[in-house]
Amino acid sequence: MKHLENKVALVTGGSRGMGAAIVKRLADAGANVVFTYVRSAVKAEQLARDVAQSTGRKVLPILADSASQEAVANAVDTVISQLGGIDILVNNAGIYGESPLEEQTPDQYDRIMDVNVRAVYIASVAAARHMTAGGRIISIGSNMADHVANRGATLYSMSKSALIGMTKGMARELGPKGITVNLVQPGPVDTDMNPADGAHAASQVARLALGHFGKAADIASLVAYLASPESGYITGTALTIDGGSNA
Ligand code: NDP
Repeated sequence: MKHLENKVALVTGGSRGMGAAIVKRLADAGANVVFTYVRSAVKAEQLARDVAQSTGRKVLPILADSASQEAVANAVDTVISQLGGIDILVNNAGIYGESPLEEQTPDQYDRIMDVNVRAVYIASVAAARHMTAGGRIISIGSNMADHVANRGATLYSMSKSALIGMTKGMARELGPKGITVNLVQPGPVDTDMNPADGAHAASQVARLALGHFGKAADIASLVAYLASPESGYITGTALTIDGGSNA
């Protein structure tokens, strides 16, 4: 029996990048997976078809913008109504933005906090109401919560730092129910958000102990471990997986 057999997972932002790798990895481990997307409808449908076919699991894409409180809450409700419960929530959807501090606007603040922080909170609270012992809440933060290596990233780093406190608080609240809550903090990972051949890649590689970008599958492996029964004594913590960038 696979270690996530009969589990139900929701992954936010699963159409591309790390989210897509996480969808695949959780389904490979036996979970039925619902994932959200906003713009990449074609990729989402294709991924769902491919992963369902290769794993024999249910894989359902749903359109849900993390910027909308209602859409996030509805996504959790959809999982409960269609798959009968929720065991694993992976808060992966996130946006990056870089601009000089003096040019930043309250709208930019709202946008990044809505997607990177508020959506994580809303989905986690909604899921926690239905999760039982063995439940898992895993959020994707960033190593930039601990070390801001470049200018222009104040809002992004702030949003990812907020997830540290949220994770610790939720771990305290949900520990008595046997639910664990953890944060995964990637460093440079080759995706559309941060291509390994992008304009800012060389300066990132220079800081990496391992000397190369990570792959989406590297992050998915850690998420799959945290989702599994084997990780049951890990909660309230941030695991940095950044090729030694912050070392
Ligand atoms: P990508 O930009 O490559 O992919 C982002 C995914 O999130 C897409 O599936 C996208 O869906 C979805 N998404 C974006 N905005 C929303 C939204 N408002 N509502 C719902 N889904 C949304 O990003 P990565 O895979 O690189 O990043 C995944 C996570 O990892 C993010 O939280 C990011 O901050 C974090 N991270 C990334 C690092 C990196 O180097 N790549 C480093 C550290 C952290 P769609 O295309 O349908 O809009």
